[in-house]
Amino acid sequence: MFTYDQARDLIVESVQPLAVEKVALLDAAGRATAEDIVANLPLPLFDNSAMDGYAVRAEDCGSGVVLPLQGYIPAGGKVDCAVAPGTAVKIMTGAPIPPGADAIVPFEETEEAPDKVTILGKVKKGDHIRWQGEDIKPGDRIIEAGSVLRPAEISLLASFGMSMVNVHRRVRVAILSTGDELQELDEVRSEGAIINSNSWALAAAVREIGAEAVMLGIARDDRESLREKMRDGLQADVLITSAGVSAGDRDYVREVLAELGVEQKFWKINIKPGKPTAFGMCGEKPVFSLPGNPVSAMITFEEFVRPALLKMMGHRTLFKPLFKARLQQPVKKKYDRLQLMRVVVALDENGEMIITSAGDQNTGILRTLIDAQGIALLAPDRDYYAAGDTLEVHLLGAATELGH
Ligand code: AMP
Ligand code: MG
Repeated sequence: MFTYDQARDLIVESVQPLAVEKVALLDAAGRATAEDIVANLPLPLFDNSAMDGYAVRAEDCGSGVVLPLQGYIPAGGKVDCAVAPGTAVKIMTGAPIPPGADAIVPFEETEEAPDKVTILGKVKKGDHIRWQGEDIKPGDRIIEAGSVLRPAEISLLASFGMSMVNVHRRVRVAILSTGDELQELDEVRSEGAIINSNSWALAAAVREIGAEAVMLGIARDDRESLREKMRDGLQADVLITSAGVSAGDRDYVREVLAELGVEQKFWKINIKPGKPTAFGMCGEKPVFSLPGNPVSAMITFEEFVRPALLKMMGHRTLFKPLFKARLQQPVKKKYDRLQLMRVVVALDENGEMIITSAGDQNTGILRTLIDAQGIALLAPDRDYYAAGDTLEVHLLGAATELGH
């Protein structure tokens, strides 16, 4: 049986980034850049004023000094005047610094009269001037390939006048639910039927990271039905199936995948929940066979599928950061597998992370996952954690809202 780490490592080693495409700046937001971004211009573009006020020569200034005004430069204005010794020029924020000036005196530190200004205090060389290139110099490598383009990175690209960006193509992920007992959401209920929630949960998780979900619906627990749907699924970049991978007498998922040319890399991971998870490759395409239980399907997506999809979309950071968090209540652990415990994550009065079990850890209990903000990792060889013990935890999904 694979360990948690072995399974994650093998999965991310097995997949490669998809082709690069050039997209409009805003379509790149939230995606990873496929190239290093190198500054083509200085920022600021030119020396400019950081305040509304007066451009002066610092050495001319002092409390009570009166300087005649030589002109006015609005933001976006042309410089058609200079600051000769003993004079000043009125200037707005963002306007270019006129020749001769080496400081800006903000309005608040002056008294203005027609055609002259009285300086009220001391002025230092460089005061309130934003120098050309003080932020970024041409040739600086500002964003590394694989970084997510957040609003700040988009701002930078926009500042360089870059309207198109190279990113990796969005991965198309086919999602197939399997099971004779499954019904779609809007079907008339038949006795013993289970509503297919996995397709929706997995599609939402796929979308959350900027990938594209292709809904294949439900395959029945027979070889023909599985074969037909899986064949469609293998047209996408990635195939995710749920259910039919345990040791049940109609669990044909792995068998039919093998028939279709999927080379199984592993089956079963030493974790709880999610043990029956299988992973294979069909040429370049990864195929994930997740357990049917909705909680197990979502947790195994989070732990094993998500990093692979991110790598395919060119992300540099594939795994979520693990935080250290203090357990608030003791935990007894039943299985000798790594337990992925659903936890409520909160901050104590010092702002330090604290966790408690989010509820019944039985995989049949969906509510516990809804109440959870994180997954804590409980070591296979431990059977007990005491209150106050420190555990590793990562946050779920894209959640930023913590518990109370
Ligand atoms: P299996 O892996 O086929 O043994 O399924 C495990 C459990 O998950 C069973 O109770 C199934 O009814 C349930 N299940 C399987 N697929 C889905 C699905 N798509 N949506 C909701 N529940 C499911
Ligand atoms: Mg089944």
